[in-house]
Amino acid sequence: MTARVLVVDDILANVRLLEAKLTSEYFDVHTASNGLDALEAISSFNPDIILLDVMMPGIDGIEVCKRIKSNPKSQHIPVIMVTALDQPEDRVKGLQAGADDFITKPINDAALFCRLKSLVRLKMLIDELRGRDTSRLLDEPDEPVDLAEVEANANVLIVDNRGIVADRITDSLSELHNLVVLKNPAEAINLNLESEFDLVIVSLDLLDHDGLRLCSQLRSFEKTRQLPLLIVVDPEDGARLMRALDMGVNDYLHRPVDKLELRARVNTQIKRKRYTDRLRKNVTRSMELAVTDPLTGLYNRRHMDNQMEIQLANAGQHGRPMCVLTIDVDFFKPINDTHGHDVGDRVLQELARRLKEQVRTIDLCCRIGGEEFLVILPGTKLQVGFTVGERLRRTIASRPFDVGAKSGPLSITVSIGVADFQTIGDTSESILKRADEALYRAKRAGRNRVISEAA
Ligand code: GH3
Ligand code: MG
Ligand code: MG
Repeated sequence: MTARVLVVDDILANVRLLEAKLTSEYFDVHTASNGLDALEAISSFNPDIILLDVMMPGIDGIEVCKRIKSNPKSQHIPVIMVTALDQPEDRVKGLQAGADDFITKPINDAALFCRLKSLVRLKMLIDELRGRDTSRLLDEPDEPVDLAEVEANANVLIVDNRGIVADRITDSLSELHNLVVLKNPAEAINLNLESEFDLVIVSLDLLDHDGLRLCSQLRSFEKTRQLPLLIVVDPEDGARLMRALDMGVNDYLHRPVDKLELRARVNTQIKRKRYTDRLRKNVTRSMELAVTDPLTGLYNRRHMDNQMEIQLANAGQHGRPMCVLTIDVDFFKPINDTHGHDVGDRVLQELARRLKEQVRTIDLCCRIGGEEFLVILPGTKLQVGFTVGERLRRTIASRPFDVGAKSGPLSITVSIGVADFQTIGDTSESILKRADEALYRAKRAGRNRVISEAA
């Protein structure tokens, strides 16, 4: 991973040291030696993350952080405050000013890179949400990303069987989040972790259990692979910490747990989880929108075209039958003319609902034109397709449509043409053309009927 890092410190030696460490890990580094330069660099360098020293002459780090976080142009950029170990009150002030995280001097490399990467990942997710939300293309009003929206009411599982650690964590988080403490890590695997929890905190110092084993299980199961995982580890236990980070644990805290630090780290993980969930939902939604007809929720014409190609290739290669039904509403124009377009729309919606209800999940119901539909039946022969068509026709004709017309429920009928895949070389166009011809014959023969191409 690489990212643009702005390092702000008034002491040149500190800047150079950080610059060297970061550059050797291929981060793109820009530096500033005071608050004003830092604010200037934010607009010119456009960093992904800012490492900000607290103690600086002129405007100090706390003030710089406040300005970054109150400016809509920069508030989404994560800020890591760099504080002196003996100044714990700086952390409080930093977090109050909106800082996302802090590290203490002298800077430990593992801590630096772990935190940097975690926040850069978060920043990239936010960028994605801000800029590349594809559902925006579809002319919908933008839901603004509220950066403060996401920091409370998370479900947190704490895995620990030593009272002190769990108590401290509970103390620090219980006002903000919903906590469950689990004493036996073996039970964690039986919980529906990914759906019930936003974060898991595992102590590596469990009595009679290896916390690392649980971490490795959570990372190896597909379902829990993305679940944020934070560990609490003894500061002497550097080797196990490295193992844990290698496994993909998201962040860590040293014992004894600093309550403020815990809150900050939990916040970051929860934010990341919530942004990821939202991003994933957006992607799924825009994929759905791209293939569905908005009025009926059936597949649209474009998806139908793609599916026809796939199904035909399949039928050709494996000699499997496949069949299509084209369906057209009888005398639909008079329905619109008499009862209005809205009633017409509701007829189409109810019709779509009945079609879907009558076919298998592998069948594809598509709306291919105004009041024309196509159902693709994979693995189905012409004769069976005809039977399905008959069932659809009856389902529609037998029960009037209660769609709010003033005159009461409307009797609706459809005509259906059936065609199937016959020879290799049969194309989507040729099959659809034969189905359309059958449909035309059904119309001419008096409507409310099904006709197969062979008949
Ligand atoms: P036939 O039995 O021969 O199929 O007669 P018809 O009246 O159904 O055929 P025609 O193709 O002349 O009319 C189709 C009508 O469908 C005309 C058009 O206004 C209406 N229509 C097309 N799309 C929509 C839509 O999205 N909503 C509504 N309410 N009506 C639509
Ligand atoms: Mg019609
Ligand atoms: Mg028509």
